[in-house]
Amino acid sequence: MEHKQDRSVDSGAVAAPRQDTETSSEVVAEAGGAYLQLSDVEFRDRIRTAYRRMAACDLCPRQCGAPRLSGKAGTCGAALKPRVFVWNLHHGEEPPVSGTRGSGTVFLSGCNLNCCYCQNYPLSQLHHGTQMSVGRLAAALVELQEKGAHNINFVTPSHQVPQLLASLFAARQQGLHIPIVYNTSSYDELSTLALLDGIVDIYLGDLRYTDEDVAMQLSGVPDYVQVAERALIEMHRQVGDISMDEQGRYVPRGLIVRYLVLPRHSGMARDVFRFVSRHLSRQTYVSVMTQYFPAYRALDPALGIARKLTNTECERVMKTWSQSGLVHGWVQDMGDDGGV
Ligand code: SF4
Repeated sequence: MEHKQDRSVDSGAVAAPRQDTETSSEVVAEAGGAYLQLSDVEFRDRIRTAYRRMAACDLCPRQCGAPRLSGKAGTCGAALKPRVFVWNLHHGEEPPVSGTRGSGTVFLSGCNLNCCYCQNYPLSQLHHGTQMSVGRLAAALVELQEKGAHNINFVTPSHQVPQLLASLFAARQQGLHIPIVYNTSSYDELSTLALLDGIVDIYLGDLRYTDEDVAMQLSGVPDYVQVAERALIEMHRQVGDISMDEQGRYVPRGLIVRYLVLPRHSGMARDVFRFVSRHLSRQTYVSVMTQYFPAYRALDPALGIARKLTNTECERVMKTWSQSGLVHGWVQDMGDDGGV
């Protein structure tokens, strides 16, 4: 998902683009990744713990028990080795992530959700991608840093956490030092997020639904709302809110909550904003994405989401935002596309 023409939104000035640090030459402060502080012993211990959990996999809330250490794939499509679709510099993420030089984005293959509208379905649902060694992935991370990336941005990482930890450890030995972004649907197990505490710098976590029936119909899991809300609270506990330094640059540490507005379901905006303000913080940055277009199985008219958003739906969401009490965020314009 990308943010190509973000507008800042502030409570009380919702639709007006804000000319602030997002357009200055220095957007993001330089900082080393939190993982630089982790001892080798602790890092190795987390990697071992993560890999052990793939014996009968319980890494994500699916808890499908796949014997991934034997090379068998689980419901998410992932087995033992890292599986990656592509890595490159992306300039379309939120300003604290893309900065001026781009985010070192690693699009992973497979997903633990089954969203019928996924714009990245060739990799997430059809599992396009290349299986590779941990060493090759580590080299890719270093390549991204050498190209100037502000950070390493793992997209859809929940089902490949052991492999990502192992590749980070190897890359750190080769000089990797930039921050880590965990770009997730938030369908994450708390015990897996615990393995990332002190390693991830920026959580880019979705809150896709506030209604379990809709989540079941569109993403195929019965408990998305309770899982995602619990996960976001844990992410926020680990990294807090994005802040700015004295020069007005984003400090690369904190949680950003993404909300993709779906046609016919824009009424969920009120509960999304309410959750953020009551259970996270009013200072939390929220990224409202209105660029939805029907892809993959969403083209089926029976699902009721085979169209773009209307202006009325967008205006309703932005009005809800203005009444939410939240003070930081961005909105992606309707005309922008998403995906890899
Ligand atoms: S990460 Fe994949 S294999 Fe593991 S429990 Fe989730 S769906 Fe199953």
